[in-house]
Amino acid sequence: MEEIICHGCGAKIQTEDPNEVGYAPPSALKRENITCKRCFRLKHYNEVKDVSLTDDDFLKMLNEIGGSNALIVKIIDIFDFNGSFIPGLPRFTGNNPIVLVGNKVDLLPKSTNPNKVKQWMRKEAKDLGLKVQDVFLISAKKGMGMNEAAEGIEQLRKGRDVYVVGTTNVGKSTFINYLIQDTTGEQEAITTSYFPGTTLGFIDIPLDNRTSMYDTPGVINRHQMAHYISEEDLKVITPQKEIKARVYQLNEQQTLFFGGLARLDIEKGNNGSYVCYFSNDLMIHRTKTEKANQLYTDHAGKMLAPPNEETLNQLPDLKPRTFHIKEKSDIVFSGLGWVTVTEGNTTVTAYIPEGVRISIRKALI
Ligand code: GDP
Repeated sequence: MEEIICHGCGAKIQTEDPNEVGYAPPSALKRENITCKRCFRLKHYNEVKDVSLTDDDFLKMLNEIGGSNALIVKIIDIFDFNGSFIPGLPRFTGNNPIVLVGNKVDLLPKSTNPNKVKQWMRKEAKDLGLKVQDVFLISAKKGMGMNEAAEGIEQLRKGRDVYVVGTTNVGKSTFINYLIQDTTGEQEAITTSYFPGTTLGFIDIPLDNRTSMYDTPGVINRHQMAHYISEEDLKVITPQKEIKARVYQLNEQQTLFFGGLARLDIEKGNNGSYVCYFSNDLMIHRTKTEKANQLYTDHAGKMLAPPNEETLNQLPDLKPRTFHIKEKSDIVFSGLGWVTVTEGNTTVTAYIPEGVRISIRKALI
């Protein structure tokens, strides 16, 4: 195909992958002034849609941002901190201040203390080498916490541009669309622009006469659970509404399966409570540890689903990690949910597909 450039953002037009930069449906090629789907939607519906980038383009983008004088707003999905993390971000942001925005707070049980969530976000960011100026908790979908976040960003940007960055699926588009509706409301206020030296579409939302908020393309993080399962299964594991805790009293040598995607063995501990926070649609199955391997061999993809029988082949093997727990803690299965182990002096082994992260934190609830 001869090289065609998007009229809106300058990205090279391609017709293969709807989720990548520059996608246009083949029918659009007949038009004059071809635009990519992302620019088309922006122009006609005043709506942004996420697209993802190759690593190469992504590095160029980060370099651009690092070289500018701006506030960086990093959106994360609080259910998947590690999967939401952009590798290399601390190295490339230069001296620019960073604000961390934790999205999807509407899914947490009402009993969650937001300050504890914020503390945890700060700690995770610090462990990953990211110094943050402030932390906000929002639900872009429900509009929760959005005013506070918008005001915080306005104060912290001190008259500078703002770049909104995030991995795919964290809710970056929902966040920006909310702000567009809320603040501009004007059709023509938003344009796309691209950086010198790159062919990337950045959506440019003017904040005042001199400065803008830029929506940047989403970045794929290979550690996201989403990359290992089908779209249908993703719907099952992604919570749609407030999570209901499910409580199990477990003895030593008992095991829980979370669909066929994760597993928790109680190695040592006395008849404690294990409080599970996962999508309400994800089946939890309890068994004896001695039977667990056989159960998984016989039933993964069927009774233990997701994955389904087709996607089971692509799922990396479940890898174990053992935790010795001294105080009430959460075992976090990145992108899936967590289990609160209520008693100290407990040893558990948690399993998750290789490549996805398991971590431990002080209990949030
Ligand atoms: P992007 O890829 O980062 O632009 O993410 P999207 O804005 O497309 O959102 C990804 C998914 O998360 C969609 O299914 C959204 O409906 C959902 N989502 C976004 N924000 C929220 C939120 O605040 N709460 C919940 N429950 N879901 C959200």
